[in-house]
Amino acid sequence: KNVLGEIIYKGHPSWALMLNIQTGIRNAVGKSMGTDGAPNNKTPQQYHTLRKPSEFRNQKDFYASPKTLRFDSAGSAMTNAHSTGPFKFKDYCPNAFRYLRYLFGIDTADFMVSLCNTLKNGENALRELPTPGKSGSLFFFSHDMKFIIKTIPKDEARLLRDILPEYLEHIEANPNSLLPRFFGLYRVKPHSGRQVRFVVMGNLFPTKKKIHERYDLKGSVVGREASVEERKSESVTFKDIDFRNRKHKIYLGPTKKQSFVDQIKKDCKLLQKLNIMDYSLLIGIHYPHREEQPSPSLLRSTLEDSSDCEQSPSIEPRNKENGRSKREKHYSMDNETYISAFQQDEGGIKSQGGDSEEHYFLGIIDILMLYSLRKKVEHTYKTIRFGTKQEISSVEPEEYSERFQEFLSTIVE
Ligand code: ATP
Ligand code: CA
Ligand code: CA
Repeated sequence: KNVLGEIIYKGHPSWALMLNIQTGIRNAVGKSMGTDGAPNNKTPQQYHTLRKPSEFRNQKDFYASPKTLRFDSAGSAMTNAHSTGPFKFKDYCPNAFRYLRYLFGIDTADFMVSLCNTLKNGENALRELPTPGKSGSLFFFSHDMKFIIKTIPKDEARLLRDILPEYLEHIEANPNSLLPRFFGLYRVKPHSGRQVRFVVMGNLFPTKKKIHERYDLKGSVVGREASVEERKSESVTFKDIDFRNRKHKIYLGPTKKQSFVDQIKKDCKLLQKLNIMDYSLLIGIHYPHREEQPSPSLLRSTLEDSSDCEQSPSIEPRNKENGRSKREKHYSMDNETYISAFQQDEGGIKSQGGDSEEHYFLGIIDILMLYSLRKKVEHTYKTIRFGTKQEISSVEPEEYSERFQEFLSTIVE
């Protein structure tokens, strides 16, 4: 199957969900821009004229969710409306997420266009990732590869809202953070059928270059190996044991290696404090010198897309006025945009040292698992080992974080 995922055509099982997501975002996010949803009469700078959370006298306003939007039917944006039936849509903490998008350099108008601008022939439709994780979450990509939508269960959505203030503060203080870039949290509730909560994040592989290998690393060895079945897929995600067998490191050069180790430490410190575990470092590797026959659909989208897809997608000019404080010294030469140190090469980072040229794309994923929310089964033996529940939650995320850091420090050079 295509590594880029399957286009959600009309009649696809996720078709109605996709239309509801797009209609919901177009309206909800459009509203928060103070326009009728048409991103036409404001410059990116104007969208970015946002107050910082600290400038809000009432923090509650910043993290509050507005009323649920009601839609009679979706699909009106398609020339021929394909009704999906009535549904409700909720935009959680829109001010906080709008501010986060600003911090990440994501223009709100572009955000909407990437996610919602499905053409009549379905060309710019979202794509669904064929092999999602064991959790049952669905993953959708925007056609331009910039964004990922992940459906998440209620407790993960709750957790994201709970950690939002601390996460936001961390992102403000750490422009090179490797934590997931969260751009929005929403809920679709069809009149009949199950409600779906989903988060919009940055795609770690925002490129049309072929990702030849991908690794999901946790620092554990137990069961951390891609299965025979998984290896059959072109888009297999290898794990810790596979990485060790690979016998090569991630070559960042001494300076970037140190910033990587330092940043992982800071990011883990926050996760540990929030009692979070089970996260991974996702790494994608592109080998520039490998000859490739692009798959037909890959070729098609690459050729037809005349926009600058090879560029790092998350870079938009920022309003200097608003970009004060800690971030400023990290700004790149034009003093307008900031790009994370780990995304400066077309959304990733090129190798330094090592035998051959490699292009890495990396970041931490899957951080919405609270230790106390893990499956009961996993608790049992640890309960015996550590005694009370209270002890477990303080000890386990710490162990996890230490093991994670320890392993990652051994794989970079
Ligand atoms: P589980 O809980 O079983 O690990 P999950 O449903 O929570 O699974 P994740 O671990 O978040 O899923 O991600 C599953 C896969 O989706 C990853 O291995 C990766 O291939 C892809 N993926 C997830 N997040 C991103 C991202 N931000 N950018 C690119 N790919 C991603
Ligand atoms: Ca995972
Ligand atoms: Ca998960």
